[in-house]
Amino acid sequence: MTLSKPLNQQLLQRALLFSAAFCTLALLLHLSLGYRAKQQQLADIPQRIELQLMPMLAQSVWDVDQSATQQLLRDLLQQDGIRQISLRNNQGAVLQELGSGDDVSHVIELPVQSRRTGDQPLGLLHIGLSQTALEQQLWRDSLFTLLELLAGLVGLTLLCYHFQQRRILQPLQQLHGRMLPAANLDDAADEMASLTQALQQLQQQQHGYEATHQQQERELARHRDHLAELVAMRTAELEHLSRFQHLISELSTRFIHLPLQEQHQAVDSALERIGTLLEVDRCYLFRVTPEMTIHDNQEWCASGVKSTADFYEDYPISESLWFVPQLLRQQQLAFSSLDEIPQEGHHERERFAEHGIQSIAVVTLSHQGQLLGFVGCDAVSRPRAWLDKELSLLRLVGEMLCNVLLRKQHMEELDIAQHALAQANSKLESIANTDGLTGLANRRLFDQRKQLEFTAACALKQPLSLLLLDVDLFKAYNDCFGHLEGDQCLRQLAHELQQQFPQEEQLVARIGGEEFAVLLPRTAASNASQLAEQLRQRVWQLAIPHMASAVSTYVTISIGVASLDLARHDSIDDLLAEADSRLYQAKHQGRNRVIGPDDSH
Ligand code: GH3
Ligand code: MG
Ligand code: MG
Repeated sequence: MTLSKPLNQQLLQRALLFSAAFCTLALLLHLSLGYRAKQQQLADIPQRIELQLMPMLAQSVWDVDQSATQQLLRDLLQQDGIRQISLRNNQGAVLQELGSGDDVSHVIELPVQSRRTGDQPLGLLHIGLSQTALEQQLWRDSLFTLLELLAGLVGLTLLCYHFQQRRILQPLQQLHGRMLPAANLDDAADEMASLTQALQQLQQQQHGYEATHQQQERELARHRDHLAELVAMRTAELEHLSRFQHLISELSTRFIHLPLQEQHQAVDSALERIGTLLEVDRCYLFRVTPEMTIHDNQEWCASGVKSTADFYEDYPISESLWFVPQLLRQQQLAFSSLDEIPQEGHHERERFAEHGIQSIAVVTLSHQGQLLGFVGCDAVSRPRAWLDKELSLLRLVGEMLCNVLLRKQHMEELDIAQHALAQANSKLESIANTDGLTGLANRRLFDQRKQLEFTAACALKQPLSLLLLDVDLFKAYNDCFGHLEGDQCLRQLAHELQQQFPQEEQLVARIGGEEFAVLLPRTAASNASQLAEQLRQRVWQLAIPHMASAVSTYVTISIGVASLDLARHDSIDDLLAEADSRLYQAKHQGRNRVIGPDDSH
């Protein structure tokens, strides 16, 4: 409470001072305006009397009603500024007079007349006006106004006092108490100084807080912007990587099912897509042959960028003194700038520079220690930093292309193996179906074909004939010339048989030791018998000497011919039995002959 008292007084003093000044001004204004109003009031009196009073006064004078006249004059005297009134006749004699003429300042004279009483004046009304009276009244009014003002201002001051006591001084005092708890100021000046100081400290503190706050806000905004940039960058990076990943998985899936002949074009397209996505200027696949030479390169170049594929075609990798050995050690090399290549690699650095390369990233393609090739990217138009993730994905591309190369290699090997196998199978099949001595179809193939031909002939209702032939007295031949000569004779006969029946559908087979069969599809009985006879004659004409034969001096054959007749033959074996029976007949009838359908009994 000790602190607030002097300030309180000061505020009170100033409020009173302000009130006094305000009252003085208000009073002066009131007086000035009041004085003018009173002057106007005096000036208006004649006109007011003329309008309000004169008709009644003229009437009462006309009626000679003295009491009414007197009452009217009394009322008139009550009006502000009028001190004395006298009513006189036209001759100037005073008929009635009211009031005193002490402080009359000037007199006005009005004729008493009206329209009702005619235009002739009935008398004269002398009115003594007093300015002093009006001024006194004005002062009185002003005094009342002043008192009202003072009362209002005192009330307002009390209100303000109460307000500043409650809302300003008490909080300030509490604040001061907190700031300077031990302060014990002696007088009001010290209190004011202390309060001012405390306020200044508070203001400084406030400014400090504001500056710190603004600084923090700026830092926060900067941090936020930085974070937003980072998020945008990271998002773009992730999107980029995710597109790259998606592309690799799409390409991998595609390559798995791709036919070999489409692979080259698919690799071209993959290199273009990878190069475009990575925003590089070259993307290439260099294959390495087992002789360690770069060969069969594929490269995509952005428009306007010169290819390097030709330069490296048939390039022995042993010519690379630093880059390739380093690459083989690390499996991957990436340089954002050629300056990162150490001095040992200066030759290759210069060559890369000649090719316009500003940044390069290469990964190896290898499988079980075998180097298959390289896949890489060059940035030519501007240098490029390589993200770790990008290099990981490039390694994935490497693995994918490695699989492509391996698949191609395996497919080619498989092709070769399959071809060899097919050949072997065919050979095996041929061996399985071929007679080793004569090269003719063997019994096995004959059994298969006879069934097929029988089925076809039945289905197509086509003729089918069969010759069964046997060398006459061949045992004796062997006995005479030896087994080897016997074999040679069989080979000669086989050759003759093949000559006689060269068509593919005609099957000549060796079905026993010195027995042969000929299947003749679409050959009717008469034709078959003719062919058999021709064959018999041609064998005889071969003139293979057979001195031990009782039939001829040359080797001869006997033939049984049968043709399919569905009325009699239920199976091919029925036909075979019939031919065999006729062969037996031929033997029985003396050999070196043909027994056909027309010859049998
Ligand atoms: P036929 O006129 O009645 O047929 O009298 P053949 O002597 O020919 O009949 P046989 O069945 O008694 O004799 C068949 C002979 O054919 C017996 C065998 O020595 C001979 N032979 C069978 N296979 C071969 C062979 O692969 N090579 C040789 N050199 N001789 C064979
Ligand atoms: Mg025989
Ligand atoms: Mg025989």
